[in-house]
Amino acid sequence: MKKILNFLLVGILILGLVAVSGCTDSAQGSDTSDETVEEVPTYIVGTEPYFPPFEYADENNSNEIIGFDVDLINAIAEDQGFEIEWKDLEFDALIPALQSGQIDIIVSGMTITEEREESVDFSDPYINAGLALAVAADNEEIQGVDDLEGKVAVVQQGSTGAAKADEFKEEGLIDEVIYLAHVSDIVLSIQNGRADFMINDLPVTKSYISQNPGVIKIVDDQLQSESYGFAVKSGNTELLEKLNAGLENVKADGTYDEIMEKYF
Ligand code: GLN
Repeated sequence: MKKILNFLLVGILILGLVAVSGCTDSAQGSDTSDETVEEVPTYIVGTEPYFPPFEYADENNSNEIIGFDVDLINAIAEDQGFEIEWKDLEFDALIPALQSGQIDIIVSGMTITEEREESVDFSDPYINAGLALAVAADNEEIQGVDDLEGKVAVVQQGSTGAAKADEFKEEGLIDEVIYLAHVSDIVLSIQNGRADFMINDLPVTKSYISQNPGVIKIVDDQLQSESYGFAVKSGNTELLEKLNAGLENVKADGTYDEIMEKYF
C-alpha cells in the first residue's frame, strides 16, 4: 500500500513539474508580448538650441544640448515614463514640424500666444520670460521705447520679439526690421551697426550679457510680459496631459526649484 502511495506521489510530482514548466513557458511567452505593450514611448522633441540658458550646446561635452528646458523636460519624461529624442530646427520651423508630425513636442523657450494656440496646443506655463529692449553698450541715444523713432530693429525670425518689432513698424514708429535666425547673429548686427536695437527674451538677453559683458545693454526689461509652454500637435491631449501632470509633479517634489537654482 505504501509503495503504491509513493508511486502515486512521484507521479503527481512529475505531473506537477511538467505543468509548472509548461506554465513557465507560456508565462515567458506572454511576458514578451507584455513588454511590447508596455514599451516606453519615445517622443521627438524639437528645439532651436542656440537659446541659452534654455537650450544650447555644451561646448565642453561634444555639443550635447543642455539648459533649463532640457533639464525640465528630462525630469518630466522620467516622472511620466517616456524617452526623448532631440531634433534641432530653426525656431520658425518648429510649429510646421509639429503640425506635419515630424516632431511630437516643442521645447524651445516658446511663448504661449493666442495666435500660436490656433495651430498648436500648449501645456500649462512653466516660466515667465518677457521681452527686453537692448542696444549697443555704448549707445546713449536710445534709453527706451520713446527713442525708437526711425531706428532699425533686429529680431529672431518667427519670435514674439519679431512680432513686437512688426507692431512698431505698423504703427509707423520704426522703418526697418531685420530678421535673423539666432541670438548671436542678432547681437552681431547691433555690434556692427546694421541695427540700432534688438527685442528678445529678457532671460536670454541677460544671459548673453553675463557671458559677454560690454557688448549690449538692456534699456527696457519690461517691454512685454510672456510665459513659456511646451507645445504639442492640436488635439494630442494624451501627451499634453502627461506634460502637465509631469510638470505638476516636478514642481511639487522640488526638482523644478533645483533646475531653477542651477540656471538662474
Ligand atoms: N520666446 C520667444 C518666442 O516664443 C523666442 C523663443 C526662441 O527664440 N527660442 O517667440
